Amino acid sequence: MFQLDQLLRENIRQLVPYSSARDEFKGEAQVFLDANENSLGSPLTRWYNRYPDPHQWKVKEALSKIKGIPPQHIFLGNGSDECIDLLYRAFCNPGKDNIIINPPTYGMYEVSAHINDVEVRRAVLLDDFQLDLVHLETLVDENTKIIWICSPNNPTANSINRQDIEIVLNNFPGLVVVDEAYINFSRHRSFIQELADYPNLVVLQTMSKAWGLAGLRLGMAFASEAIIEVYNKVKAPYNISQATQELVLAALEETGQVNDMIRALVTMREQLVQDLALLPLVRKVYPSDANFLLVKVGDARAVYQYLLQDGIVVRDRSKVELCEGCLRITVGTEKENQELIQALRTYDAGRIVS
Ligand SMILES: *Cc1c(COP(=O)(O)O)cnc(C)c1O
Repeated sequence: MFQLDQLLRENIRQLVPYSSARDEFKGEAQVFLDANENSLGSPLTRWYNRYPDPHQWKVKEALSKIKGIPPQHIFLGNGSDECIDLLYRAFCNPGKDNIIINPPTYGMYEVSAHINDVEVRRAVLLDDFQLDLVHLETLVDENTKIIWICSPNNPTANSINRQDIEIVLNNFPGLVVVDEAYINFSRHRSFIQELADYPNLVVLQTMSKAWGLAGLRLGMAFASEAIIEVYNKVKAPYNISQATQELVLAALEETGQVNDMIRALVTMREQLVQDLALLPLVRKVYPSDANFLLVKVGDARAVYQYLLQDGIVVRDRSKVELCEGCLRITVGTEKENQELIQALRTYDAGRIVS
């Protein structure tokens, strides 16, 4: 049913990938005169004059231990955004193929499709923010290459039912991408343990959220070795900088600290849910498996502007389908969350007076 070779673009199937100096020589040596680097060094005390490992093996081995996934099943991108874009470039013929998203969802699936001139089909979520499998099925044709599922979903904050994702994985012969950017804030099981069962599964995770490293830009794709080989074929040779590789490697030693932050953020999220629910202007706080809340207020634009006057920026999602009147609010520090609640209390007070 799933045939990777047939799913690939013909030009990628035939592609002879770029072979870097670091690919061609892998052994031990004292004198490296093969990559046209600056042999004298760099202006930085910490030298960065050498090209980094194109396959980031040290980072992958450290991740492998944490995730329980062999390194050959891991691809690292310059943010998840690179992991997303490369799938279009490898699998979707511009002007011909299509993909399916389940909105409201993360915007990059659609933007990246448009950049690559790939048609976007939309199976809007049901009112409970779950997959509309009936609609989804009607959208699939022989040119449908990818179905994007974000779980926990941004901006709705809920997890998608596991059984529904399994139905898609079992019945769709193209790629099924499960974006788990927020999985660490959820009690649900990741799909990365299911790779052996599903040759069409790609799981995306990121260092940008729970790991607190959005500034470094490191996204992860977990998939079959065959899909990872495709990723490696089309990526830029040195897509992850030496600085990022070193810093991520150091961060991966600190799982204890990261788990503490995750627990703290989840506790503060639940406190924020309670505090928000007490405010008269809040109509609904949706359940969250992420580090943000989707909150329905009366006039989202007005509340957004009001908070901005107090120097507080949230995300106005009121123009997004199924999110009418909604703001998306990231869980902040204890102090930031209190400032938010205080500001919203005065908004209510102002309303009552006027
Ligand atoms: C934040 C986020 C990402 C992370 O993207 P990076 O490029 O890794 O920073 C990926 N997917 C979703 C759904 C997100 O909300």
